[in-house]
Amino acid sequence: MSAERANNWDAIVIGGGAAGLFCAGVAGQLGQKVLVLDHAEVLGEKIRISGGGRCNFTNMHSGPANFLSLNPNFVKSALSKFKPKDFIELVKSYNIPFHEKHKGQLFCDVSAKQIVDMLFAECAKGGVVIKNPVTVESIHQLDQTDGVGALWQVVTNQGIQTTKAIVMATGGLPVPAIGATDFALDIAKQLNLPIVEVRPALVPLSFTSDEFANLSELSGLSVPVKVSSGQKGQRYGVCYFDEDLLLTHKGLSGPAILQGSSYWHEGEVIQINWLNDVDCDELFNDDANRLKLTENILGIVFPQRLAKAFAEQKNLLGRKWAEVGKKDRQALKDLLTRWSVKPAGTLGWKKAEVMLGGVDTKALDGQTMMSKQHPGLYFIGECVDVTGHLGGHNFQWAWASGFACAQSLARK
Ligand SMILES: Cc1cc2nc3c(=O)[nH]c(=O)nc-3n(C[C@H](O)[C@H](O)[C@H](O)COP(=O)(O)OP(=O)(O)OC[C@H]3O[C@@H](n4cnc5c(N)ncnc54)[C@H](O)[C@@H]3O)c2cc1C
Repeated sequence: MSAERANNWDAIVIGGGAAGLFCAGVAGQLGQKVLVLDHAEVLGEKIRISGGGRCNFTNMHSGPANFLSLNPNFVKSALSKFKPKDFIELVKSYNIPFHEKHKGQLFCDVSAKQIVDMLFAECAKGGVVIKNPVTVESIHQLDQTDGVGALWQVVTNQGIQTTKAIVMATGGLPVPAIGATDFALDIAKQLNLPIVEVRPALVPLSFTSDEFANLSELSGLSVPVKVSSGQKGQRYGVCYFDEDLLLTHKGLSGPAILQGSSYWHEGEVIQINWLNDVDCDELFNDDANRLKLTENILGIVFPQRLAKAFAEQKNLLGRKWAEVGKKDRQALKDLLTRWSVKPAGTLGWKKAEVMLGGVDTKALDGQTMMSKQHPGLYFIGECVDVTGHLGGHNFQWAWASGFACAQSLARK
């Protein structure tokens, strides 16, 4: 076999994370000769740290409504071809124990590492070759008449590889400390593919001291709230989430805020209903509460420290509810049911879980993830302008987009 033939791959997957490893395994098992290249010393790091080390690997209810993209219809085809139940079957086949934590979110009972090991095992079954750490320097589209039938060349610090297809699976920018880059976007730009502007999402929000006032002292408290974020006419409109909010010394976090952050833009307010499902009028009009101190009424539904902070915020600390005037009552109710607050910013890429934006889906075929302009070039996973809600949807997108791509590779 000639040297050119020896490294003439059916597909080279650049990025051995969730989408890349899964895609490589499926394609390999469909008979493709696949090489995975990654610049990291250790692969699958994001999976390993995900879900607090337990990896929320899918969501039983994952569907198109759980994704943000300039083209919300783009996800439909891939999501319908590889569903949460398909990944669950795979996990079960490896006897990995898991449980539903909340609203369809499935987590490993033991460790996220089991998902990484499963992906490696799937790659091994498919005869996939994995090389890391390798620096990919450039990719080039070759003339089809070059004699070896290869369409693409990948230049690395360890030599040149030729391949019929390239799969870009280098993820997004969150957590640069574990090797996140925007390499897929660089390649897309070089090839004149459109990019939807990127920003951190599923990320805690920070506040100025004015906005945050006495709440910053309550770091560590978590309460269920209703949050709305975003604006009509903005890229993704308005969202409403019913989740827990966590007070931190830097600002607000917890699932409610992380979800809201994906819809939030600089300068906008977010609105929080601290009372969640508690009926405000029922609480304050209850005759049994009339003679109670305001903070004690609030203490019925909130942790004591938060109850005090709310009463203090409206100068009602130590005042019996019966003695509080109409205007002050209304001010407190407004604070509790529609606290409008303008975040100063997000905690950025270091603390974000995902990247919003990415390679514009209008440049890709939703059935296959292949570039419409450059046959043989695919983009999968987080580098595509598809961002899931919190709760296992981002991994489901990694699996589904990887699967659609692998099927297409095998058909070629
Ligand atoms: C802290 C944290 C917790 C999370 N928890 C969850 C969760 O529980 N559930 C969920 O659904 N989602 C979760 N996510 C999101 C999820 O991890 C990502 O959506 C998912 O990993 C994206 O898969 P991917 O394959 O596109 O990218 P990644 O998994 O990030 O893989 C990208 C790979 O590309 C490699 N790479 C990058 N640049 C280059 C380059 N220039 N050359 C070569 N290789 C390169 C990287 O080393 C990496 O191996 C979490 C994210 C974070 C940060």
